[in-house]
Amino acid sequence: MANESGNRARPALGQSVWGDLVTVGRAVGRAMRVSFVNLLRKPVTVHYPDVKRAYPDRFRGVLALTYDKETGEENCIGCRLCEYVCPPQVIKVEMLKAEKRNYAKTFTLELYACEFCELCVQVCPTDAIIMTKSFDLATADRRELLLDKDRLHAIGQEFEPSWAVGTGLRAMQAPAKAARAEGAHAKAEGPEE
Ligand code: SF4
Ligand code: SF4
Repeated sequence: MANESGNRARPALGQSVWGDLVTVGRAVGRAMRVSFVNLLRKPVTVHYPDVKRAYPDRFRGVLALTYDKETGEENCIGCRLCEYVCPPQVIKVEMLKAEKRNYAKTFTLELYACEFCELCVQVCPTDAIIMTKSFDLATADRRELLLDKDRLHAIGQEFEPSWAVGTGLRAMQAPAKAARAEGAHAKAEGPEE
């Protein structure tokens, strides 16, 4: 039977057994065709964690503490700037005063409540706290995400650091030296008459 636009109207489901069989058969055929096409396509997924994709250059993941590459000393001087700046207050640092420099006596980071805002990295004067190219700390036990100093250093040793560290980020955001010098010069000369 033709409808108003002249096309043959399909019988509604349940009106005829043969009609229903043809409709279902067509639907199954279409679904099988999609499955078959996908079977021959190159997979877009990988077998994680056996296979890992390369992280993008600017990936910033789990936080870590670093050692000085030349001296092997801890970079953290216990200044607590990261603790002050952290919005959810998940960092706690105790400073250990020493003769030549200070250290962090204790350093804890509650990763389960971290916002990954990177502010702690941006303010760190010694690039002691960094972000790494990993997100892989999934666990069913929240206590494992309360990271102490040793664990943070171990993460820093295990994973590749992110490109962004405090000194680099601050240098990027600072006005260019020439512009700063020009500004200072103009200030010293005072307003023109
Ligand atoms: S990334 Fe942000 S929320 Fe996480 S510890 Fe650093 S300052 Fe705190
Ligand atoms: S990680 Fe950096 S900002 Fe935080 S206490 Fe250590 S030196 Fe200071």
